[in-house]
Amino acid sequence: MTIPETFAGLDKATIIERDEHTISRQDIAPNALKVLYRLSEHGHAAYLVGGCVRDLLLRGKPKDFDVATDATPEQIRELFRNARIIGRRFKIVHIRFGREIIEVTTFRAHHDASTEIDDSTSRRDIRGLDSARSNAGMLLRDNVYGQIDEDAMRRDFTVNALYYTTDRFRVLDFCNGLADLKARQLRMIGNAEKRYREDPVRMLRAVRFAAKLGFQIEPDTERPINELSPLLASISPARLFDETMKLMTNGHAVESFSLLTRYRIGEHLFAPTLEALPNAPIASVKLVDLALANTDIRLAEGKSVTPAFLFAALLWPVLQLRLAGTEDEATSSLSFNQLCNSVILEQLDYTAIPRRFSIATREIWDLQNRLVKRNKRTVNSVFNHPRFRAGYDFLLLREDAGEDLQGLGDWWTRFQEGDPSTRNEMIDGLQKSGNRKRRRSKGKRKEQSQ
Ligand code: ATP
Ligand code: MG
Repeated sequence: MTIPETFAGLDKATIIERDEHTISRQDIAPNALKVLYRLSEHGHAAYLVGGCVRDLLLRGKPKDFDVATDATPEQIRELFRNARIIGRRFKIVHIRFGREIIEVTTFRAHHDASTEIDDSTSRRDIRGLDSARSNAGMLLRDNVYGQIDEDAMRRDFTVNALYYTTDRFRVLDFCNGLADLKARQLRMIGNAEKRYREDPVRMLRAVRFAAKLGFQIEPDTERPINELSPLLASISPARLFDETMKLMTNGHAVESFSLLTRYRIGEHLFAPTLEALPNAPIASVKLVDLALANTDIRLAEGKSVTPAFLFAALLWPVLQLRLAGTEDEATSSLSFNQLCNSVILEQLDYTAIPRRFSIATREIWDLQNRLVKRNKRTVNSVFNHPRFRAGYDFLLLREDAGEDLQGLGDWWTRFQEGDPSTRNEMIDGLQKSGNRKRRRSKGKRKEQSQ
């Protein structure tokens, strides 16, 4: 099936023919192809766009497949039973195939968003708008539809604005994205400062792609970031949590964290951590580095990582500093649990942490104390704790970071590997050797003194 050449805006594209690029249909998720074909059959233009085209051209494996089309969200929904319109600022359609979601967006047009929204604008008035911005220039509604060439210019970086069509399997380039891809650089489309003001999250995206792809950020794209990073304060904590997780789980957490610090963006995401690092115990500082490196290794091995573990690690120096109780009279009287809660609360000023994760973060910390105390009853209850594995991994990380826990990690490793009778012997052995006299951790001491 062919897409009529008459689709508006196509004449503006540089066309890269099938034999001039490396994308093969076999590399494309069958469900993404299904969506492209169904839309075309019904007379719509439909393209793969964004990260999937970029990554395929780089011979990488796309994380997901995004589709752009001239069909409106409502038209898309009519064509797919499994489609749902989501988002208000920027409406998109999710088409679900089992666990896979294909994200479909309608071509966006440029709009000057002359409707300014301030505190006096009612929610109902905002809801009816397709185009609006805040008085600081941030786009609050971006739902004005247009042609493919306009859509390309509304995207963030030139390498993210390449389109792939099943019509003769061509790649379409509207803003020299292919040249930037070859030069391995990230270039913002249009005026970088204006584009960051429209959506400050684009600064986080610049860092994410630079870290993930090993690309340079082109100078005009890089320059405004330091100055504009405070704009991130206007982004909802929920969106910042999502973006933070994308940064930490892109397989390049170490590089992402270092770029975030270099561009002074980190202080708008991880202020409590960055403030604690210069004064926190050295092992807790080292633990953050190790946790990030470990995250990258786990992902490379196809293992999962959980936000709960990441936050347990990132906030560990903060907790250790508060536990030392040297800085602040107000915190020195708090119990261990109260301290954990207050550290998480500090982080919530910057990013959201969904409750299920913050609960698990606290459990990982709490297990650090419980892993120390070992007798028949406590060993089994700790071992059967749903968060045992994460708590144990965290314990090993503390040892790797240089904390002397007197062979505790090794004890738990042998305990897990042992059969029931070995385990009983190990517990008996502890009691005989007077484990109860073990030095307790400071946190536990505090908790007990309450
Ligand atoms: P990933 O590999 O992480 O999925 P991606 O480039 O596909 O990277 P998505 O968040 O999936 O990123 O977005 C898909 C495309 O939508 C982007 O490539 C870009 O063209 C466009 N886009 C996404 N977010 C923005 C934004 N904040 N501003 C402008 N364009 C955006
Ligand atoms: Mg994507």
